[in-house]
Amino acid sequence: MLHAPIVQPLPDGLEAETLAVRAGQARSPFGEHAEAMYLTSSFVFENAAQAAARFADTEDGNVYARFSNPTTRMFEARLAALEGAEDCIATASGMSAILALCLAHLKAGEHVVASNGLFGATSQLFNNVLSRCGIATTTVEATDLAAWNAAIRPETRLFFLETPTNPLTAIVDVAALSRLAREHGILLAVDNSFCSPILQKPLRLGADVSVYSATKYLDGQGRVLGGAVCGAKSLTDEVFRFLRTAGPTLSAFNAWVLLKGLETLKLRIEAQSANACALAKWLEADAKVARVYYPGLASHPQHALALRQQTMGGGIVGFEVKGGRKEAWRVIDACRLISITANLGDVKTTITHPASTTHGRLTPEARAAAGISESLLRLSIGLEAPRDILRDLTRGLHRKTNSGLKPRP
Ligand SMILES: *Cc1c(COP(=O)(O)O)cnc(C)c1O
Repeated sequence: MLHAPIVQPLPDGLEAETLAVRAGQARSPFGEHAEAMYLTSSFVFENAAQAAARFADTEDGNVYARFSNPTTRMFEARLAALEGAEDCIATASGMSAILALCLAHLKAGEHVVASNGLFGATSQLFNNVLSRCGIATTTVEATDLAAWNAAIRPETRLFFLETPTNPLTAIVDVAALSRLAREHGILLAVDNSFCSPILQKPLRLGADVSVYSATKYLDGQGRVLGGAVCGAKSLTDEVFRFLRTAGPTLSAFNAWVLLKGLETLKLRIEAQSANACALAKWLEADAKVARVYYPGLASHPQHALALRQQTMGGGIVGFEVKGGRKEAWRVIDACRLISITANLGDVKTTITHPASTTHGRLTPEARAAAGISESLLRLSIGLEAPRDILRDLTRGLHRKTNSGLKPRP
């Protein structure tokens, strides 16, 4: 089974900052201070009897890196501590975390209710992949509790959602939805990639499972792909069994990078949230901006719910320019600092035009229904000085020329 290395015992009641740098660390007999990276595909046994016991699961211990690795286990233990979860299982990417969750807990004939506006590949997974395995999905308006209720069938097994949604930052009431899910014996899974356990703890709000694309804020520095599933051990054990058989395990190298990412997560995401909040306010006051979507703004229709559920607004800001695609693209093309990429959660600020990138494959009708207009831009705010980010954005908004600036390479 899952081998837990000899984890350093810690005092009770530690806060997030402390857990982020201390939780889950296992020291080898060499006494290394930093967490060691165990780059090995397999593990050896003392003798034939031990090999037999490890394979029979009657003795804890590492066997093969598809099953477990001490570095990966340290990352899992640290994230579980931050999340307040009994256990956590790491995966090769965010998508493999969602796939593993679904294939570990669902079977043909069962049904999922999912929020609209999910990450594109997640929608594809539900609608084009799991559907072929006999697992049907109904998509509902994320914030409409009555719609979730109406979509429940006798065979509904999973509720799946993201909050805040991407890129319009709608907030789903996790506590309310968890009561509905519990009433019907349905598992509630929240993709918490946008908030991380620092800003939002889905399990505390009543969700059963918190899933991550660790690629985003947990790494936060654009280096590796990773994912994780956090929850009660009875739920994560099933995910572990699926991974061990199917193989989308997190590599030890990526686990080590993510362990280091967790150490600075709180500092980063709180600073990014504060920067995003400042930017959102500036944009809201700009005459060339038609609308700003940010949960930390008093004008956000669900500001009160956001404050109850999250400690801060997060690093993602959506805004509509006055005009259409031409005006939106002009803002992007005038940026000299902000990276033009659909990735998010990085310490470098990024900008994207959802209608022609992440949501480009939708029909115009589906895009309109999802509220993705041609004038919408999405920012993922990084750690640059907020005034420098603003100056980069206002250049295109106010048609300033780039005199004196070299063109983007
Ligand atoms: C990026 C992302 C995913 C997918 O994660 P990968 O690590 O790219 O596989 C899933 N959910 C959300 C909310 C994401 O932003």
